[in-house]
Amino acid sequence: MPQALMATYNRLPVSFQRGEGTWLWDSEGKRYLDALSGIAVCGLGHAHPAVSKALCQQAGELIHTSNLYHIPLQEQLGDALTRVAQMERVFFSNSGAEANETAIKLARLYGHRKGIEKPAILVMEGSFHGRTLATLSATGNRKVQAGFEPLVQGFARVPFGDIESVRAVAEHSSNIVAVLVEPIQGEGGINIPPEHYLAQLRAVCDQHQWLLMLDEIQTGMGRSGRMFSYQHSDITPDVMTLAKGLGNGVPIGACLARGDAAEVLGAGSHGSTFGGNPLACAAALAVLETLEQERLPSRAEALGARLLSHFADALSDVAGIEEIRGQGLLIGIELDRPCTELVELALKQGLLINVAAERVVRLLPPLIMTDAEAEQLVEQLSSLLKDFLDS
Ligand SMILES: *Cc1c(COP(=O)(O)O)cnc(C)c1O
Repeated sequence: MPQALMATYNRLPVSFQRGEGTWLWDSEGKRYLDALSGIAVCGLGHAHPAVSKALCQQAGELIHTSNLYHIPLQEQLGDALTRVAQMERVFFSNSGAEANETAIKLARLYGHRKGIEKPAILVMEGSFHGRTLATLSATGNRKVQAGFEPLVQGFARVPFGDIESVRAVAEHSSNIVAVLVEPIQGEGGINIPPEHYLAQLRAVCDQHQWLLMLDEIQTGMGRSGRMFSYQHSDITPDVMTLAKGLGNGVPIGACLARGDAAEVLGAGSHGSTFGGNPLACAAALAVLETLEQERLPSRAEALGARLLSHFADALSDVAGIEEIRGQGLLIGIELDRPCTELVELALKQGLLINVAAERVVRLLPPLIMTDAEAEQLVEQLSSLLKDFLDS
């Protein structure tokens, strides 16, 4: 079909023409319930009026000027984000991978300033941090790395959720400068660490002057039931990266920092032509304002709890369901077998879902999903799962 495009994606046989809230319509006019939000991006749903209005207005006024000049909207967004996150400074990029690249560069420079010649960052098995060379090297999934060697050096890896292995590394490695970790692993299959994991990581980082760098690209912007996932604990990271939900579909990423970490990147040390341009910042400001005004993080928490309990009821006696887990609107239903076919079966029935790590049905619905839509999701997906596991 699309001969001109590099074959990097196995695309599903559908294209969408229009969206509204939790719904998408394809080119034939068929309607789909969207339980994926463009992979945790459209948290406010499709065509949210506040975002559309901000974009239209800004597009008619000024789209881009470059970071050679002051950008009031970028400063405004920076103030708002750092206030909500209790961070001090922010660098804006255009994607999640770039936000993580910023964090990786920041950590290395921080290490060099401490006199560590070959600084290393501790990363996790099963993690996902992006597709650029440094971020795929940080990613704990061989499939993402295979064929792109030599990988970027300077990463050490431990199992996710295992604080003892982090402490063991701290005992005998002298070149670690930071930990980069997702509070919940999204691409890895909605993996939730043990309860005090982040606090324990914080303690190890404090003890060894490592930076705690949280990749909140998938978990952030209200999705976990708090604006940022670390707010479920009482710790603050040194560095946090955001992207996906930040622009509700307009490409924008951010790397936030506080304390010593906030002062590391200075003039000339990093940059981006597009990063934080007026159009993207206008969209992100509208997103942040809407999330706060409509208390959507709390809505995500309540709706997530409701979905988890209703799925648990609907699937309680179904053989082949290993675990139903989640926090807020990051929900995983793990099966005892590979189930990627489910995505296309659901599509045929007008339902958009995803499968991560081959066996985990991953749901990332928009935060504005109604109770009625949630019921429909539970009914439709549960019957699909029963049929699939029966056959
Ligand atoms: C999606 C994602 C990324 C990469 O973001 P891109 O915008 O695709 O570069 C990085 N980390 C996490 C946790 C993600 O979910």
